[in-house]
Amino acid sequence: MAGRDQHEPTPKERLAIPPESMPAQPAAERQRNFTEVELGLTPEQAMREAQRCLHCPTRPCVDGCPVRVAIPDFIGALAAGDLPEAARILQRDNALPAVCGRVCPQERQCQSRCVRLHRDGAVGIGYLERFVADWAYAHPDEVGRLERAPASGRRVAVVGAGPAGLTAAGELALRGHAVTLFEALHDTGGVLRYGIPAFRLPKSIIDIEVGRLARLGVTVECNVIIGRTLTLDQLREQFDAVFVGSGAGLPILLDIPGENLKGVYTANEYLTRVNLMGAGMDPSSPTPVAVGRRVAVVGAGNTAMDCVRTARRLGAEEALIVYRRTRAEMPARAVEIEHAAEEGIRFLELLQPVEIVGESDGWVRGLRCQRMRLGAPDRSGRPRPEPIPEALVDIVADVVINALGNRPNPLLARTAPQLERDETGRIATDADGMTSLPGVFSGGDSVRGGATVINAMGDGKRAAVAIDRWLRGED
Ligand code: FAD
Ligand code: SF4
Repeated sequence: MAGRDQHEPTPKERLAIPPESMPAQPAAERQRNFTEVELGLTPEQAMREAQRCLHCPTRPCVDGCPVRVAIPDFIGALAAGDLPEAARILQRDNALPAVCGRVCPQERQCQSRCVRLHRDGAVGIGYLERFVADWAYAHPDEVGRLERAPASGRRVAVVGAGPAGLTAAGELALRGHAVTLFEALHDTGGVLRYGIPAFRLPKSIIDIEVGRLARLGVTVECNVIIGRTLTLDQLREQFDAVFVGSGAGLPILLDIPGENLKGVYTANEYLTRVNLMGAGMDPSSPTPVAVGRRVAVVGAGNTAMDCVRTARRLGAEEALIVYRRTRAEMPARAVEIEHAAEEGIRFLELLQPVEIVGESDGWVRGLRCQRMRLGAPDRSGRPRPEPIPEALVDIVADVVINALGNRPNPLLARTAPQLERDETGRIATDADGMTSLPGVFSGGDSVRGGATVINAMGDGKRAAVAIDRWLRGED
């Protein structure tokens, strides 16, 4: 990389630099493998992209980031060729930068606030975050470690090793508290591990980022289900405070006839079988998955895109998205929709499944759908899909995957009836993340329902600050 003595571009020169695009595996190749699709910027590209940043005094991009990464500062260090400093700034503000650089919907967060957005395209903050985080993991000795505060003598339990729990655990450990992280599954990462496929987020990245937290002194105990192995009340007795980041793992069902047919999966089950149990790729997997020649996925969020692109990679000749609105309203990240289209995924728009149709042998044969049209905007601001009377259409499929979304996992709360929740099971908290139980905090999908990695991390960070104040008796 260039050193600090290089020519500092003038504002005019910065404005003349065009945006870089992310190198990727060709679509024809990648649709049959699970290797990462995006390859990362080259050092030369990263340097040019970093020089596009105008270092706005009002820092609007930082306001768009739920964990408030000092974006212009890390980009400035990168542009000056000081990668260790860029990495230190990033790692100080973000516990999982290599994850966020890959999966955050930057176009709706930091990059949506970038002053260059409407001129020639936002600065590629996500691309640069990924570049710096990956460089840091390849050069750990040059970056050094974050300093821990002296031991406070206080103990905190964290439930769930997803982005919310991992962030809270790291922040609390840095503040000198003794943290034990309890995870129900046999591995850490939450949705990052069992939901998001390796072609978007390699598992090695999760291992490295979790390893960094473990080196901060967090004790990780997997295979411990809070609400079964131990209750929340027991945690409250044994620890000075508790953070619950148990996520949203309970699928919302389609609630139509045929949901129990063979070959019908919820997205959670399908992705967990493939990502965690090796189904589809390993013939000896104890939890196989039906591969399917024609796979229909219901929904159009990130989860739906992950399912349909996984089905394609497992060998589906046709992989379909069935969605009740149109492509313009799809909630998935824009880049995932683009990548899916390039991989030959077909989008069937304005269709709402009303029945899953089966054979006499109990296997699924297809979907019966109601044709829809777009009406006036609903509460989400998107046009409301309305049925066109008597317009039904049949779609042939030998695997159907329901990717409608998830609700919070009820297990923990079932053994803690005093923990206030709303009618959909979301844990109620105040602005600091404190629940109805004093000393018990929560955040991430357990509070929001299905949201995003960076929002879960923002909650974990905010709650860690509040827990620290609580433990010091400041509130
Ligand atoms: P989780 O990640 O769900 O982690 C919760 C953890 O708690 C899990 O490991 C679970 O096993 C554990 N747990 C639950 N109950 C207990 C218990 N009783 N005891 C102990 N442990 C327990 N967001 C993005 O920003 N970008 C994306 O591209 C994106 N893609 C997605 C793709 C898929 C397939 C899915 C399902 C979600 C995606 N999301 C994406 C959403 C994002 O992953 C979640 O919002 C985020 O992971 C929530 O973090 P969390 O820590 O709250 O919960
Ligand atoms: Fe740089 Fe864009 Fe942030 Fe301005 S808004 S400091 S140009 S990243």
